[in-house]
Amino acid sequence: MKRPFPVETIVHKVSFCVVGGGIAGMCAAIAAARKGIKTLIMQERPVFGGNASSEVRMWVCGTPGFPETGLVEEFRLENLYRNTYPNYSVWDSILFEKVRFQENLISLLNCSCQDAVTENGRIRSVTGWQSTTQTFHKVEADYFADCSGDSILALLSGAEFRIGRETKSEFGESLAQDVPDRKTMGLSCILQARETDSPRKFIPPAWAYCYPDDASFPARGHKLEKLQNFWWLEFGGDQDSIRDTEEIRDDLLKAAFGIWDHIKNRGDHGADNWELDWVGFLPGKRESRRCIGDHILNQQDVLGGGHFPDTVAYGGWPIDDHHPGGFRHDGPPNTNIIPERPYGIPARCLYSRNVENLLFAGRNISASHTALSSCRVMATCGTLGQAAGTIVAAARGAATSSTLI
Ligand SMILES: Cc1cc2nc3c(=O)[nH]c(=O)nc-3n(C[C@H](O)[C@H](O)[C@H](O)COP(=O)(O)OP(=O)(O)OC[C@H]3O[C@@H](n4cnc5c(N)ncnc54)[C@H](O)[C@@H]3O)c2cc1C
Repeated sequence: MKRPFPVETIVHKVSFCVVGGGIAGMCAAIAAARKGIKTLIMQERPVFGGNASSEVRMWVCGTPGFPETGLVEEFRLENLYRNTYPNYSVWDSILFEKVRFQENLISLLNCSCQDAVTENGRIRSVTGWQSTTQTFHKVEADYFADCSGDSILALLSGAEFRIGRETKSEFGESLAQDVPDRKTMGLSCILQARETDSPRKFIPPAWAYCYPDDASFPARGHKLEKLQNFWWLEFGGDQDSIRDTEEIRDDLLKAAFGIWDHIKNRGDHGADNWELDWVGFLPGKRESRRCIGDHILNQQDVLGGGHFPDTVAYGGWPIDDHHPGGFRHDGPPNTNIIPERPYGIPARCLYSRNVENLLFAGRNISASHTALSSCRVMATCGTLGQAAGTIVAAARGAATSSTLI
């Protein structure tokens, strides 16, 4: 359809385009840019950091006892130095400056990738809509990284991916299912509360769920303490964690305000002086599409140390698999199986096996559901991103020196 007024399309020509500006995407983009690769990062939100940003508010975790180095450490040290309270706006500003003022790196905020052109099994360009400027941005690049969590670029480019939980027999995973399914870990809206020095009332919205007593919370501790964020408020693992996001968000908000009503108004929770500080309206996602590379990381790798000739990053968070029933599941919300030692993650988990110039980093790498439940934490995602950006820089170096790529 011909538009009465032309909508501007800005064309960018770069070597490397990263879609998604969570911790993984940021690290991919910064790593490549610092190696002299002309890079662009497209992020659909107004802030960087994904689930770590002020919009979702999860802490960056990694391998307990073996803190990650590299860019993740750089972000953490800067934050420790400048953000002593701590405060999410300061954290957002640190992530913003790491990207925005990085040489060789163009950043597009509020820009959502919505189209890709492919040719002979390669992505030629992607296009995003920037809502603040009502402008299309078309990005032509040699290499692309899908760091969008939900794998938008895999969907648009035809890269293979999978959703759901494998059978035990596929990779010999004792923690997998007898019958495969499309269930995932669920989505969450985080609540934050704070203690004040005088009593505070809370009147719940009429549409909040009602949780009359503590029996409404089997195996869900809701004692008020500084770091309580009610992460176990989780729905959607037995729905489609992409298509049903808006519906799941509504369900989560009804539960979030219902939980706070329970704490304030139903039984003694020592909450008289506590007030609700913040509720996330953007649900954080744990799992959706997982891209397929030349290797699929699995339970054996996670618990066996993951010894690969092409190891590019390490994980070590427990197998922290959340029940797809989430908050409606009466049993414990998650598993906690601790690997004996950090495990290696190979480069083969970071590129598509059927789209030649597509890499991925973050929670959408090539991993089984069980392995993802460990490697999905953000410091691990950051090291995967740094590895992906470094791989592109190495490939570009090889391309310019030998033209074989
Ligand atoms: C409630 C909850 C609690 C968690 N707790 C922890 C924890 O304590 N510690 C921890 O380390 N991890 C935790 N995790 C896991 C962790 O947050 C995720 O696995 C991690 O954020 C994945 O990183 P990512 O960079 O791949 O994705 P994300 O953090 O989701 O970032 C992806 C970014 O890409 C953007 N994007 C998506 N589509 C597009 C598009 N079309 N165009 C442009 N941009 C796009 C998104 O807006 C987002 O900002 C938790 C997750 C949840 C949901």
